[in-house]
Amino acid sequence: MKEEELKKYEATLLGLQVNLSKEIKDVIRGGNDMGEIGNRDEEADETEESGIAHAEQITLKGRLHAVLDALERVKTGAYGTCLECRGVISTDVLDAAPESLYCAGCK
Ligand SMILES: [Zn+2]
Repeated sequence: MKEEELKKYEATLLGLQVNLSKEIKDVIRGGNDMGEIGNRDEEADETEESGIAHAEQITLKGRLHAVLDALERVKTGAYGTCLECRGVISTDVLDAAPESLYCAGCK
């Protein structure tokens, strides 16, 4: 991969890292606020809401983890190489999801 392309994806990944960290904080804060303002009668709803927030948190944390992994791969020079076939991951795939670890064929 060209140096300038690598820099572009690294910048995108760093932006994603910031956004995801912020979203995770928002989800955690949202869940806590709901707990504080809810009353006893709404306990069932609260549990459901925090369950959704929890699931969202897991999804976001999973993506953040993938982004951090990708940034590590930028440093080691492995970025843009498919984990499965060691082939080059096309820029189409990376443009759609810069944290991708697999090429279009191995996904
Ligand atoms: Zn592959």
